[in-house]
Amino acid sequence: MTAAAPQPGEAATGTPAAGTPAAGTPAAGTPAAGTPAAGTAAAGTAAAGTAAAGTAAAGTATGTAAGTAAEPAAAGAAAALLEVSDLRVEFAGVHAVAGASFVIMPGVITGLIGPNGAGKSTTLKLIAGSERPTGGRVVYGGQDITGHPVHQVARRGLIRTFQLSSEFARLTVLENLLVAVPGQRGASFLSALRGKRYWRAQQEELLTRASALLAEFGLTHAADQYAGELSGGQKRLVEIMRALMAQPRMLLLDEPLAGVNPSLREAITEHLARLRDEGLTMLMVEHELAAVDRCCDSVIVMAAGRVLAEGPMQEIRANKEVVDAYLLG
Ligand code: ADP
Ligand code: MG
Repeated sequence: MTAAAPQPGEAATGTPAAGTPAAGTPAAGTPAAGTPAAGTAAAGTAAAGTAAAGTAAAGTATGTAAGTAAEPAAAGAAAALLEVSDLRVEFAGVHAVAGASFVIMPGVITGLIGPNGAGKSTTLKLIAGSERPTGGRVVYGGQDITGHPVHQVARRGLIRTFQLSSEFARLTVLENLLVAVPGQRGASFLSALRGKRYWRAQQEELLTRASALLAEFGLTHAADQYAGELSGGQKRLVEIMRALMAQPRMLLLDEPLAGVNPSLREAITEHLARLRDEGLTMLMVEHELAAVDRCCDSVIVMAAGRVLAEGPMQEIRANKEVVDAYLLG
């Protein structure tokens, strides 16, 4: 399962089916897609076809990828999931992001490191649509999403995790999960009027998904606790779980280990590795290099709004320019 996991994602990336919000939509809400595990990991099995919204194209791609992972041309296996080119934004004359370019391959955890003020958080916001770039392009799953608003980007399965706001602290953990999914039918008055039964079926499906997530993250016992009462590390987990409720293909995480005690930090790291093995793609900002070493398959180093270097951590450590500018600096 681990080796095969990224394949359907990779294959789907290269097909038109990838442009549809495959696993990120309520359409994927079949029992098989009830958990992020099923949505992604089902990988290489029949269930993967289901999770990908059951489109013929995705089904085909999955089948092809399983057999020909080593032939990029055939399966589109070498296609990047995210391509950022010459991305720029400035705030009142400050070039927060000043021409950043990089690609993210599917099924890997990429670390985004760099000194304070390098533009890491802003880069995630520009990708997720919560800030509009003044230049450059963001292509996700083969589609240009530059400047698209957050809800549209999220519907494609690309989601940035949020720190729990004070309102969410007054909801229970379970409630936090149930309200996390964008575009729920019950969320609009008009659609609620369209039928209780429909609404109820959707709520039940969300509840099933939330329960599965709570179990996977070992937080079932905390379901009815107010989120505000959780420890820093548990809050981070809830933030990740909230993002997973939408069954994303790719997560953007901004310092998911910040303010977390060492034992929970390890637990979060393990959860991220599990999600990666199940096929989820992640780009995470992280401060601590030891954590990046443990968590990330690949690293992007930013400084002054630009990408300074990109590659596996051991290569980055051997890069004199990077070491001088950042790692030792
Ligand atoms: P990092 O996450 O790498 O520490 P940020 O992306 O948060 O860096 O910030 C990059 C630069 O852009 C910093 O100089 C910061 O002060 C500035 N910046 C970020 N957001 C805004 C904003 N909304 N308005 C003005 N300046 C901003
Ligand atoms: Mg930051």
